[in-house]
Amino acid sequence: MSESRGWTRREALGMLGMGVAAAALPEFASAQTPAFPRGAVIRTVLKDYAPEELAGGATLFHEHMSFADAFMVRWTGYAADTRRDTAMPGAAAPVQGAGRQGGPATAPPAPPSTPSGKYFMQDLAYQVEEMTIAKGEGIACIVDGGHPDMGRDINFLRQMSQQSGLPVVAGGGFYTQPFYPKEIATMSEEQIYQALLTQADTEPIGCWGEIGSWDWMTKDERKVFRAVGRACVATNLPIFTHTGIPGKSALEQLDIFEDVGVDPKKVVIGHVGNLVDPNVEVHRAICRRGAFIGFDRQGAAGDAQQVPMVMKLIDAGYADNLMFASDLSNIAQTKQGKGPGYARTLTVFVPKLKDAGADAAVLKKIMTDNPRRFLAFVPKKARKG
Ligand SMILES: [Zn+2]
Repeated sequence: MSESRGWTRREALGMLGMGVAAAALPEFASAQTPAFPRGAVIRTVLKDYAPEELAGGATLFHEHMSFADAFMVRWTGYAADTRRDTAMPGAAAPVQGAGRQGGPATAPPAPPSTPSGKYFMQDLAYQVEEMTIAKGEGIACIVDGGHPDMGRDINFLRQMSQQSGLPVVAGGGFYTQPFYPKEIATMSEEQIYQALLTQADTEPIGCWGEIGSWDWMTKDERKVFRAVGRACVATNLPIFTHTGIPGKSALEQLDIFEDVGVDPKKVVIGHVGNLVDPNVEVHRAICRRGAFIGFDRQGAAGDAQQVPMVMKLIDAGYADNLMFASDLSNIAQTKQGKGPGYARTLTVFVPKLKDAGADAAVLKKIMTDNPRRFLAFVPKKARKG
């Protein structure tokens, strides 16, 4: 099967057991549904759902629908700095003055805007259309991994969800060292913890994420991770992470969370599909401890190297720990930008696993059950807003 042949809508819905033909297949009819704790909900920007209500499609646990317009420009600049500073193999020639010295000297080409001239993550009509398409392709719920330090706008997400009819979970927290508000440097762990609880009290966030370390973990990042771990224990909201590029500090992140009492079942260690680890040793170590691992930049060129990693993990018995998403961040990846769209994990990546021999029922479980088991939590306080 060709690399890039995506599934049609009918095929994707069929895989999820939503098509007429698939409904007749015993493997879907008898599929055991996961058991959720009594009182567990999935908290979206508009309402709390019983996890069973979102069983009819895939949940994407790490995407982006709302950013500040400068976010990706800053991100790209910091990434260039990091590659130069750490002299990673394959590093591009250094860009003079890129990144942390106040932005690139040679500005990268401005990303194409939407027909109405806006940055796509600030164009409500554009994103409503993207969500409507993704819903039609089999997505039942989508998680936005931004928070205020990335310019995520919760009211934008609310309107987008309302107008498209697609349930949206918003993340909370602090992102990574280059994006922290200045005060983080002088705040104590306790003060950061209190600030996180305030976020959860004032906005209907449904998880802590994405919580990251940029490269090797910094002391501020360790402080934030401890505070986020404690906020997870205090609120029961689950956590998903961003690991340094590529996949650095994955084990250290989990160590910190466990040190402050977090149940690994409430954690996804993210971006580990990018790790150069063909025998998936780090992945196995994380799974053995009970956490999820994120193959969360899927549906693109990197799939070729990641499909064999995922197959090894399924063969090793870790299907229940796998979590897939695409971390969409660029207009060229959207449907209206002539890309595969927000559902590309389901329509592009999952078919590649099927071609590699993965069982359809296992894939369905990974796309529909694992993210609901991750997101479902028993609230300690009633939602506000
Ligand atoms: Zn992300």
